[in-house]
Amino acid sequence: MSSTIPLGAYRVIDIDDGSTEVEVHMEFIELAIQQANLAQPTDTAFSVGSLLVHGRQIIATGFSRELPGNTHAAQCAIIKSKSTPLSHFVQGSVLYSTMEPCSSRLSKNVPCSSHIIGAGIKEVIIGVKEPMTFSECRGVAQLRKAGINVTHLKVLEEECLRPNVHLLT
Ligand SMILES: [Zn+2]
Repeated sequence: MSSTIPLGAYRVIDIDDGSTEVEVHMEFIELAIQQANLAQPTDTAFSVGSLLVHGRQIIATGFSRELPGNTHAAQCAIIKSKSTPLSHFVQGSVLYSTMEPCSSRLSKNVPCSSHIIGAGIKEVIIGVKEPMTFSECRGVAQLRKAGINVTHLKVLEEECLRPNVHLLT
């Protein structure tokens, strides 16, 4: 076997225990929700918000369709991060996303999980797993396979789904 990358850890936080860690995660997911709310709603894709964070510092933000070319939130944050003064912090940073990053795309676009792996992001915090509306998402599995730790912050799940209620049955 040539693969020596250990599987990334997967953790679910389903209660707000008042710890600093959970408070910090909630604060950043709330900011990511504000990003998701900036996305123009559509019937063909979710509205998602993302932040790239180094320590407590936001490197870049992104939301669905922010940049031209039917872009996704994590993809936008990563593209934008390259032209910020903090770009050297992207490697080893944490990505907050209101929804699980996508693992495949019908268009020729590169899926977000590949953007995240390529950028050297070490940890991903998601607010909700991608619902089955469009396809089966394997984003968490792909990230973990690349050795990236994934935390599912379930306590704000409803808020993360709210910009997408028209897509849920
Ligand atoms: Zn995506």
